[in-house]
Amino acid sequence: MTVRTSAMRRAFRVGSLGFLLAFGTSPLLSSPGMAVDAYPQGVAQPTPTPICTGDECACPGDCDGDGAVGISELIRLVRIALSLDALAVCPVGDTSGDGAVSIGEIIAAVQRSLNGCGGEVPFSGFDPADLTFLASDELDGRDNNTAGSIAAQQYIIDQLRGFAVGLNTAASGDDAFKQTFPLGTNVLAMIPGGDLAEEYVVIGAHYDHFSGCVGVCNGATDNASGVVAVLAVARGLAALPQPPRRSVVLAFWDREEDGLLGSRHYIQNPLVPIADTVAYLNFDIQGANLLPSVRDFSFAVGSETGGAFLSDAVDDAVAAVGLQTLRVSSIFGQARSDYIHFVNARVPTVFFGDSTGPCYHESGDDPEIVDIGKLAMQSEIGFELARYLAQTDERPSFATAPPVVFEDAEHLLEVFDQAVANDLDLFAPADATVVEQFHTDLTAIVAAGPAAFDGPAIGTLLTGVAAAIELLVELPCDGFLEE
Ligand SMILES: [Zn+2]
Repeated sequence: MTVRTSAMRRAFRVGSLGFLLAFGTSPLLSSPGMAVDAYPQGVAQPTPTPICTGDECACPGDCDGDGAVGISELIRLVRIALSLDALAVCPVGDTSGDGAVSIGEIIAAVQRSLNGCGGEVPFSGFDPADLTFLASDELDGRDNNTAGSIAAQQYIIDQLRGFAVGLNTAASGDDAFKQTFPLGTNVLAMIPGGDLAEEYVVIGAHYDHFSGCVGVCNGATDNASGVVAVLAVARGLAALPQPPRRSVVLAFWDREEDGLLGSRHYIQNPLVPIADTVAYLNFDIQGANLLPSVRDFSFAVGSETGGAFLSDAVDDAVAAVGLQTLRVSSIFGQARSDYIHFVNARVPTVFFGDSTGPCYHESGDDPEIVDIGKLAMQSEIGFELARYLAQTDERPSFATAPPVVFEDAEHLLEVFDQAVANDLDLFAPADATVVEQFHTDLTAIVAAGPAAFDGPAIGTLLTGVAAAIELLVELPCDGFLEE
């Protein structure tokens, strides 16, 4: 898994800069972590120089909270950039041509400086502080129509305000970011596009979870982590040197846990035309490990709804990042997340998910069990795919496909090969027998080849997966984070 390790380090290094710029609470130094990468072996590193201390460092962006970055605040950001003195410092400029230098443009310039002023801006939107806040006990599960829900909405809007506009043009101020419906509030924003601005790529995750647990159900992987991914993709797109060609809608659904109600309300009351919605990318249950042996696996559900064009685009995004993300047909999402309303509305859709597992709807679904490195990579895959779909000339067309295809069996076998070889002892003996039998069946189905992939084989596949998920959910909640 060396691919993952190096990519993970890269994600952390760049991500931590974004973290410092946006939310740093410790003294900002010329980061020793960055210096290690910047200095060849044997070359002495300069002594880090503090450029701010204490409270001064807590607000490297909008320190006075007036909603804008003033001149003195801007200077502080530039000083941070200049403090990376071992690196080339690239010009900070108005790359979007809107007449002002935004925070996103400054951050992009700092990122380019880390890259020797290279043209390719590294992905940087990922910020683990989003998870810490959204999955904190203080928000009490972000259940709809509660103080915790309102705090989550406000946090999300605060993240978006600097680079996105509210999608609800009938309202103003923060209300423009809200679409209310009975007992719920969707948060909706848009990064306006360029020459294809009348076409839309929608990226969404539900932000609600629920209360009433013994203890607090923080829903860290369900679905604070999906929100983290969407925010990361959004920041990454906003930091591009040019705005994306298509407009990108950022959707944070409420009342998913009550029956996918927020996304249903949106589909019934869309704020941009469904016919002009090029694709929907859904993130639900991210940064979660089903078993120790498959911690480097994830799933991309339903890309066949956009035909080979969308499936190929998923494969390219996955290849660029390196986390094994197996494509499976839409039916394996079991219509259990917001993606299904978009599929039913004939919008090409990909649902990124780690499946329900041992921490599903458990009070142990806390930030501590989230695989942060995995979540960073999933965010980057989302960014790569969103960027491609927002920029490319061609757009996917909705396609109907057989509900289950032979490739599903091949991809699921990859997972069960690992589980049976390494993790059977986690299951009770009777359950282990069930998992082993399914693995045997799956092996036979794949060995028989596509020509023999018929109704009975499909039945075995669907019932076997459903049964295996039930057994996984019964395992003790453990993030399986240890190597
Ligand atoms: Zn969920």
